Amino acid sequence: MDAAKYIWMNGKFIPWEEATTHVLSHTIHYGNGVIEGTKAYKTKKGYAIFRLKEHTKRLLESAKMTLIDVPYTAEELNEAQIELVRKNEFIGDNVYIRPFAFLGYGVMGVYHKNAPVETVLAAWEWGAYLGEEGLKRGIRLKISSFSRPANTSNMGKAKATANYLNSQLAKHEAIECGYDEGLLLDDQGYVAEATGAAFFMIRDGKVITPPSDNALESITQRTVIELAEDMGIEVLRRRITREELYIADEAFLTGTAAEVTPVREIDGRMIGKGERGPITEKIQSTYFDMVFGRNPKYEHYLTYV
Ligand SMILES: *Cc1c(COP(=O)(O)O)cnc(C)c1O
Repeated sequence: MDAAKYIWMNGKFIPWEEATTHVLSHTIHYGNGVIEGTKAYKTKKGYAIFRLKEHTKRLLESAKMTLIDVPYTAEELNEAQIELVRKNEFIGDNVYIRPFAFLGYGVMGVYHKNAPVETVLAAWEWGAYLGEEGLKRGIRLKISSFSRPANTSNMGKAKATANYLNSQLAKHEAIECGYDEGLLLDDQGYVAEATGAAFFMIRDGKVITPPSDNALESITQRTVIELAEDMGIEVLRRRITREELYIADEAFLTGTAAEVTPVREIDGRMIGKGERGPITEKIQSTYFDMVFGRNPKYEHYLTYV
């Protein structure tokens, strides 16, 4: 990865190399931590962080769900992220921001409430998550043999590091099988989400995406629903079954990192013409116009640095 100059850790900016932790930190052993993935884009007026407030709010909500007491307010974390992007003097097109909170060194054992909470904001320049080629031509998706953990035993709506074991195994399986990304069904067999992105498909001109019953409440998914509706496209939120995926006219994934990535194949079935579909392309270009500050209608989602 591309190192940056500073990381904000527990209220202070410190050099990137010095942002280290003890090997007996609680989270390394028991997996309770929460993360965000936020992005800043270089606009004509400098960097703008996309939907900063929503991401910070979700970080604190994830922490509440997993019983981590983050000792900073949303306002403090927002200010620090703005300062972080400024201080690092980035030059690239976009910057990925990774706010997180984890349990540090001092106690062992499953009970975690006495472990110190460490709060960190890091940022670095990061290229297209599923590749530049993927953004243009589309990616190949495989339905995973892993399902998204059931709501009875998991906190799927927390952006929790613990949930990433499931994502990691599904991702690895997809790559091993020669695909780009895995798609997870829920324990009832309905489409949940990809390993770190929401799923959309298009049938007969309608955009369809599943409810968040068994998935993270994705900020990009919400944004894309709004964009599509503003473009006059009908959007349905309903359950999707496996066989329906195979006959979709178009499909794409959305996420802060994945942005809007077209899907050209699912499980050996070509989707549409096997390339980025026309509606996907329109939504994708509208998304990029929005995040790069080229559409005044969505200025309220940008926080200039
Ligand atoms: C972060 C993440 C997403 C994407 O969420 P956005 O808010 O759109 O960035 C989707 N699914 C999972 C499991 C995630 O961790």
